[in-house]
Amino acid sequence: MPDSVANQIAAGEVVDRPASAVKELLENALDAGATEIQLIVKDAGRTLIQVIDNGCGMSDSDARLCFERHATSKIHKADDLFAIHTMGFRGEALASIAAVAQVEMKTRQCDSELGTAIVIEGSDVKSQSPCACTKGTSIAVKNLFFNIPARRNFLKKDSIELNHIEEIFKRIALPNYGVAFSFHHNGRLLYDLKAGNFAQRIAGVFGSTSKERLYHIEEQTEPVKIFGYVGKAEYAKRTRGEQYLFVNGRFIKHLGLSAAIEKAYSELIPERTYPAYFVLLEVDPQRLDVNIHPTKTEVRFIDENIIFAILRAATKKGLGQFSLANELEFNPSTEIDFTPAAKDYVPPEPTVRYNPNYNPFSTERSGGGGTARSRDEYEHFFDSDSKEPVVERLPLEAEPVSEVSSTAPSATPINYLNRYIITTMKSGVVVIDQQRAHERILYERLMAARASGRATAQQLLFPVNCRFNASDSELLSELLPDFEQLGFLIAPLGQNTYVVTATPADVKESELQSLLEQTLSDYKGNMMQKFSDRDASICLSVARQMALPSGVPLKPEEMQQLIADLFSCQAPNVSPSGKRTMFILGEQELAEKMRG
Ligand code: ADP
Ligand code: MG
Repeated sequence: MPDSVANQIAAGEVVDRPASAVKELLENALDAGATEIQLIVKDAGRTLIQVIDNGCGMSDSDARLCFERHATSKIHKADDLFAIHTMGFRGEALASIAAVAQVEMKTRQCDSELGTAIVIEGSDVKSQSPCACTKGTSIAVKNLFFNIPARRNFLKKDSIELNHIEEIFKRIALPNYGVAFSFHHNGRLLYDLKAGNFAQRIAGVFGSTSKERLYHIEEQTEPVKIFGYVGKAEYAKRTRGEQYLFVNGRFIKHLGLSAAIEKAYSELIPERTYPAYFVLLEVDPQRLDVNIHPTKTEVRFIDENIIFAILRAATKKGLGQFSLANELEFNPSTEIDFTPAAKDYVPPEPTVRYNPNYNPFSTERSGGGGTARSRDEYEHFFDSDSKEPVVERLPLEAEPVSEVSSTAPSATPINYLNRYIITTMKSGVVVIDQQRAHERILYERLMAARASGRATAQQLLFPVNCRFNASDSELLSELLPDFEQLGFLIAPLGQNTYVVTATPADVKESELQSLLEQTLSDYKGNMMQKFSDRDASICLSVARQMALPSGVPLKPEEMQQLIADLFSCQAPNVSPSGKRTMFILGEQELAEKMRG
């Protein structure tokens, strides 16, 4: 089998989409000791992925060799396989990339006067010549998969591929906060990260308000050293967006560790909301098994249970909950001595149950995640042509509207379980779901504001800066006029940051960022289902998030108001996502129940 074919086949395993090429190139730049790394991407990586670093560079012969399979210069570190201090040691990334793209590399070592330029296309070296260039290495990967049309056609929409690239960029930039990174896409500067400390890096990636949203955690113990930041409970989100764990400088996914952190929040945050966290763990590489997953984002720890306990305790301590000493009752002293297990100790199979398909970064969530509801619940609503299709499908009477719209029921409403409001009307006993009712009210208000062109925007005393990932930012910039119609005054500040100066009444400032994120995410979901009324989508999403959740106790006046507002809606019987907002028990039904 010719080498080029073998390379193409193997390439598919290493490089399956632009983001994986980005990952390999960035990791190589870090391995080369770079202190400044530029990532330049065009068309979500389809046309160009370029990484420029100021690292050690390569000699003329190495420049040629590095594209040969297994030509790693790092293999002598193989006795250190567990160390993962070096980013990769397979020595096949560049060979794989060169097999499926047109690659131009310029590289110079600091002690040579001239560098070398090399052009490779589908594994064929087209040219190599000396060139004048700056110290370090620049590798441009053009027209990825140009020679494998099937794979090229398989690439997802640019917004999705860009999302993957951005995620890789964050995972690499976050723990390497001592290295400066920049990221351009189609000529736009998306990230410009100066070298600094971890907190500064988080702020650089997620916006300067991150600092106010996070608590510092730190714990130095023998089995694990922990350093990082965990989100304040009040900023927990309905999606698992900003959850980052790193072990020895590498991004990992570990459901057990994530659970350890989330457990520390139990009772502090509502169910199905998720805290942000950025946590760096240092573990003796000898006590780590990184090879259980080919992409090496999953690891296994020998001292797993102890590490969980320490991480949970450190998080609680950071949240001001308990001191570490309290938590780890089995050791009354604050000096904790966890004697590591013997070297020949075989780690038990991890017992954490998890869903292997779970990906906290996937935007297309199916089940389990906080946004899972949106799809199913919107389905009826969006499938039909009319805006309120579900009304007819519900076996509800239509009278209540005329009956109560002007005169609110006189009886004082009763609150049941902080969820249902019970009152009486001429036609019977009415039971109202407070959350769904509120969604209906807000939804109609927003739709009316949009239709009249006179939304009531409330100026914020202090404008709020919100930061988004690149694809959300792109989408938001498109939707700014739509948001404005609803009363959100939002202006772009560049670098994926926006300033919000006004909102509809009753939007909590602390929830603004997550409200906008969720709205954008719902919007993407709705558009995928070819739902064409974009304004209704935004109104629906905003209404759902502004609505009082069930569990919030309402005062009698508030209940009265809610009832009155509900009955002045055009479709009081259903929530905007098609759920029943209330039912009425008439005299006959009551009598039937009483029979016998
Ligand atoms: P690996 O990183 O696993 O060794 P790669 O195919 O990624 O394999 O890279 C092959 C070799 O090319 C590396 O071992 C390194 O010597 C060299 N190399 C790649 N990228 C760079 C870079 N940006 N700067 C210096 N040397 C590099
Ligand atoms: Mg590599």
